[in-house]
Amino acid sequence: MSDTKNNFLLKHFTAKEIKPRGWLLRQLRIQAEGLDGNLDKIWPDVKDSKWIGGDREGWERVPYWLDGFIPLAYLLDDEDMKSRARKYIDAILLRQKEDGWICPCEDEERIGYDVWAVFLICKVLVVYYECTCDERVEPAVRAALFNLNEWLRRHTLFNWGAARWFECMIPIGWLYDRRPEEWMLELSHSLVVQGMNYKLLADNFSDIEFNRDWKFTTHVVNLAMALKAYAVADRFAKTGNDDFAEEFLALLQKYHGTAFGLFTGDECLAGTSPTQGTELCAIVEAMYSFEILFEKTGKQIWLDRLEKLAFNALPATISEDMWTHQYDQQVNQISCAIQDRERLPIYSTNNHEANLFGLEPNFGCCTANMGQGFPKFALSAFYKGEDSIYVGAIAPVGLKTLIDGVAVEIECKTDYPFEDTVRYIVRCEKPVEFSLFLRVPGTASSALIDGKAAAVGGFTGLRRVWSSDTVEMTLQMEASLKKRPNGLFTAERGNLLFSLPVSFETVKHEYTKDGVERRFPYCDYELLPVSGWNYGFASGQLKCEKRPVSESPFSITEPAVVLNAEMSEVQWELRKDYPGVCKEFPEQDGTVGKPESKRLFPYGCTKLRMTEMPLVGEEKP
Ligand SMILES: [Zn+2]
Repeated sequence: MSDTKNNFLLKHFTAKEIKPRGWLLRQLRIQAEGLDGNLDKIWPDVKDSKWIGGDREGWERVPYWLDGFIPLAYLLDDEDMKSRARKYIDAILLRQKEDGWICPCEDEERIGYDVWAVFLICKVLVVYYECTCDERVEPAVRAALFNLNEWLRRHTLFNWGAARWFECMIPIGWLYDRRPEEWMLELSHSLVVQGMNYKLLADNFSDIEFNRDWKFTTHVVNLAMALKAYAVADRFAKTGNDDFAEEFLALLQKYHGTAFGLFTGDECLAGTSPTQGTELCAIVEAMYSFEILFEKTGKQIWLDRLEKLAFNALPATISEDMWTHQYDQQVNQISCAIQDRERLPIYSTNNHEANLFGLEPNFGCCTANMGQGFPKFALSAFYKGEDSIYVGAIAPVGLKTLIDGVAVEIECKTDYPFEDTVRYIVRCEKPVEFSLFLRVPGTASSALIDGKAAAVGGFTGLRRVWSSDTVEMTLQMEASLKKRPNGLFTAERGNLLFSLPVSFETVKHEYTKDGVERRFPYCDYELLPVSGWNYGFASGQLKCEKRPVSESPFSITEPAVVLNAEMSEVQWELRKDYPGVCKEFPEQDGTVGKPESKRLFPYGCTKLRMTEMPLVGEEKP
């Protein structure tokens, strides 16, 4: 066992210190009033879970839900939500066994119980501690992890526990910082050596042909989580290669990359076609991985990647009222309809309903897990360094903290990514010296900080004695076409991806299956196209137009930014046997129409859309 090194470069703030404002506050309120804020009232697997003494799912669903619901309650300072979170935590702690075992199963079932849920609930208890400083948490986490170490002396990790071993390093690291004990090193060692070796997987990675095999090693959520594996494990083990995350992500994107900066997986890796899907759990888990990777490495690029998912893939795959969501989203998604049950679905292993908007289309993991996306994104707006504050993701958020014992407030005032100006308002109880590191996204073409040119894709440190100051950053962002595979292009501006929205009509489905009721507003919806989708860019000229951000930040009717483009109809066929899916790319030279003016919406403001399209005009970028 190596010496434990404390590799903290930066430290995240908690929901007690960070308060959302502006569009992000409105988005979190929509979430609280939608499915995630009401899951304990309507969804049996949370409402009547074994975790709280009921008879429904007693494994990952309650911990998944609490992982987002707890920070949401504290970010919004919502007393009702806080007390509902506490009821769950009380019930879970009350049921913890004398020997530390914390999951809801009979003693004789422990041997076959997949301990992935132990990792997850310990991680959630740490999240709860960060919000509450509840003194019951530390002994409960210690007992649960001590018991897990005993379990691992007699048994071996399997299935999800083996695939997601590194998630347990997060609560172990937290506990080790507070009260280091020798057995924690033994536990970390067991996890590293018994868990899946993603470095070997990366070293032996090859282009996997599209197939319908379901494997832990190509499972999209495992891979999204595993990007942070060695960043959280290297503190306790010799894991080598510090660039694992960067190199593995590059490999995954080369063979399976999507325009929104992740990879396909429906639910295993499925190639680069824009009509394959990506599971919602993979979006929120990749966001969390990117947040951890920034915290551990201080590399700006992880925040660009985080923003790209938070502004595009996350809002796109959840309905505007946040009552329904998809299992799989497609980049070119011309229909969300139940696929022909006589044939295999378009997805590698997901079912015929995987891209419907609903309560639990395909499977209920995302129903429970999606809630962590926006709250953890809000928490990534600032990070604490030594004698310094770093801006993380750029979003309207207020921070209250102490520097050298002096109360300091920093407010980020902006409608970014929908506008280009960001103001930081600093107020200190009394003058205090520290550095404020402002971040310029790597996708800006240039930037000014208080009128002076600042480096793009990095941080500009402002060291001064702060008292009451405002710093203004102005970003220059050019809208342009970016290359994708198979001669297709996407329109992008900064960290926003744009799509041609396809108008649709909805078909509502209310029904009950396996004791789970789908009823408005948490019923299933098919979205059927009623406008054309077969277009190509007639030129690379894109004109940006802005308006105030509406009450609903990712409004599908009133987006705050649009790109005006000239587009021509092209000959683009449907995939044989799949009436709701377009072919991966159109016929060569198949322009059939004259250029028309079209408005491209932010990807996150679309439900049916075309995003990757050919350039059919003269000029190629
Ligand atoms: Zn899922």
